[in-house]
Amino acid sequence: MAKITILVVEDEIAIRGMLTIILEQAGFLPLSAGEVDAAQKMLSDNLPDLIVLDWMLPGISGVEWARRLKKDPSYREIPIILLTARGEEEDKVRGLEIGADDYLTKPFSPKELVARIRAVLRRSGKLFGPSQLILGDLILDTEQHRLSIGEHQLDVSPTEFRLMQFFMTHPDKVFNRTQLLDQVWGRSVYIEERTVDVHVRRLRKILAEYGREDLVQTVRGFGYRFSLLN
Ligand code: CA
Repeated sequence: MAKITILVVEDEIAIRGMLTIILEQAGFLPLSAGEVDAAQKMLSDNLPDLIVLDWMLPGISGVEWARRLKKDPSYREIPIILLTARGEEEDKVRGLEIGADDYLTKPFSPKELVARIRAVLRRSGKLFGPSQLILGDLILDTEQHRLSIGEHQLDVSPTEFRLMQFFMTHPDKVFNRTQLLDQVWGRSVYIEERTVDVHVRRLRKILAEYGREDLVQTVRGFGYRFSLLN
């Protein structure tokens, strides 16, 4: 399964580099261009799954390119997140009017950018295939009952699979043991809360084989959180 590709179009080298790193860390495959002409050329090679587009660019502006892409049947399905240094409401309205899928004002946190990207991908059906749940390089296939990291298939029990499925559909949120028991094991069964810890520990051990034990994080005094961000 190929990674989700995100094209970043930003003329400021430092910001472009930072965006590339954030996207890589979140498990995406970033491509980047400094202006529209170069970005347009990249589209003919390979369609990205999403474009993060700076509003102000030399030559053709980001907002103008977004308008063109959204009119072009070959490209209009590609979701676009516009970035702007200006926080004016007018810009936001204009950005969304021309068909941008979301709008983010600089400066923004890496977490916010990644959350917006995921939300847009989810809305456009790119994050969830019919039976596949993809987060970064993690793939959970509910039909084949398979969990993999990139090319590697993980050896998880049915319970750990369900736990992972719940985590992957609720990223970045904290759940206590009772909530996890209800959601993953169901209310009808009586199981001690420490069972959750046992399964989380096993899951982490499996993830640790790929250096990814930090995906399931302990929130002291509360419970657990699944996150691709540290
Ligand atoms: Ca710029």
